[in-house]
Amino acid sequence: MKLTQLDDWLKLRANVNLPGGMWIDGRSAGAEDGATSPLVSPRDGEILTHLPAASAHDVAKAVRSARAAFDSGVWSRISPRERGETLIRWADLLEEHRDEMALLISLEMGKPVTVAWNVEMKTTIGLIRWYGELADKLMDESPRGKGDALALVTREPMGVVAAITPWNFPMTLSAFKMPAALVAGNTVVLKPASQSPLSVLRAAELASQAGLPDGVLQVVTGSGPITGAALASDDDVATLTFTGSTEVGKQLLHYSADSNAKPIWLELGGKSPNIIFPDAPDMAEAISVAGWAISFNSGQMCTAGSRLLVHRDVHDEVVAGVADYLGALRIGDPLDPETQLGPLASRRHRDDVLAEISNGKQTEATLVLGSDQPVDGPGWFVEPAVFTGVQADDRLAQHEIFGPVVSVLAFDDEDEAINIANNSDYGLGSAVWTSNLSRAAQFSRRLDAGLVWVNCYEEGDYSVPFGGRKLSGHGGDKSVHGLEKFTSMKTTWMAV
Ligand code: NAP
Repeated sequence: MKLTQLDDWLKLRANVNLPGGMWIDGRSAGAEDGATSPLVSPRDGEILTHLPAASAHDVAKAVRSARAAFDSGVWSRISPRERGETLIRWADLLEEHRDEMALLISLEMGKPVTVAWNVEMKTTIGLIRWYGELADKLMDESPRGKGDALALVTREPMGVVAAITPWNFPMTLSAFKMPAALVAGNTVVLKPASQSPLSVLRAAELASQAGLPDGVLQVVTGSGPITGAALASDDDVATLTFTGSTEVGKQLLHYSADSNAKPIWLELGGKSPNIIFPDAPDMAEAISVAGWAISFNSGQMCTAGSRLLVHRDVHDEVVAGVADYLGALRIGDPLDPETQLGPLASRRHRDDVLAEISNGKQTEATLVLGSDQPVDGPGWFVEPAVFTGVQADDRLAQHEIFGPVVSVLAFDDEDEAINIANNSDYGLGSAVWTSNLSRAAQFSRRLDAGLVWVNCYEEGDYSVPFGGRKLSGHGGDKSVHGLEKFTSMKTTWMAV
């Protein structure tokens, strides 16, 4: 990262034109009735711009033209290699514009700009390039079953893929979806969260510059209940991929049932257990990672280690260490490269998180760090909070707070740890810290979660799927498996 001072980023901010419209048919577009909504930065409450509030009619138009682009074959019927090359050019352009992209992410949802640059844009560019490079290396199948006939099992693009994404990782989570859907030959209509449309709008513009034909990637802006609902209910959408809350995920299933029964792929909330045994190979590392796991992205992470399960023998040591880690984090302007903890994404979300802390204080749990009062100054900041003495059925242990609030639960043995860990409607991330190989292997099997990390947290790679189970959803994004939901399997028999 070349911009290392707050002043550098403020200068860039002064020179960057913020996107002002949706991205439809390769150009910026407004809502037909001219409706717009203000976009407020969580950094300081500034109104950044106004963006179109797409009506159901606008959404239908965007889907129709995505369908026309698909049917034209301009993307769906070119060679996979050509599609891959376009994605790679797109990744190159995003790399060229990485500072600007990181700035947009930081302005729209408050992520420290260093994290936006080093983590979010790295993953975004890496994923787009990874799928681009994969394009011409995929195989169909021809089973050897019969001598007098040839069977081909092929995977075909589905048509228009709808994607609806949340605000916590506006680019990365869009990149979990767009390149996989595109490389498979589909066209895409994406609705970003109302809070964070800027980065993805700019990315779509760069995709057009990279040679993506018009209509192949559309970005519609507007509210979930209007714009998102219209997209999810559209009969011309072949499949829908969603990352967001469990509540909205369930609603999308209704929209599907009431329209064309399109498959709905859900990546939802979490309440991930992070389990520390006294024989963690490096206790200092386990403690600082536990602090990181609840404070990274201000705790606005589906996989946040929000339930910290600690063996009673090391409970006090771990709690003190995590509190020290969190207490030392530098809270501040997300555009300042020194900032470690940015604001929460919106005022409403900040107030919800503070209300959860306030409610937690009314229980038998003890607040050993943090406060239910906002941090002074502009922006929607919350101090990290640690609750001890939390019981497995408490709201503090069950409800996804989606902020820097960790609930510590003590346990005495393995069975108790597993029972507490699996006592959740969610099943996304989980981690166990131990030097005991048998215990690590058993825990990996017994944890009812889509992701298990042993002696690490949040490990991931483009080539490895990411996803949950139970009310955390299903489907798995990233990797070769992430492509499956964007293709339709066909069997062709040929008499020979
Ligand atoms: P959200 O409220 O569910 O919103 C997600 C997206 O759905 C937004 O684009 C939203 O639009 C849209 N939406 C809202 N209501 C809708 C409706 N009735 N019909 C169609 N679309 C609708 O979630 P969020 O608050 O943005 O994000 C936080 C949640 O995402 C947390 O629960 C977190 O755990 C989850 N998450 C999961 C993963 C994962 O991989 N499992 C990753 C990241 C986040 P508006 O913005 O306009 O409301």
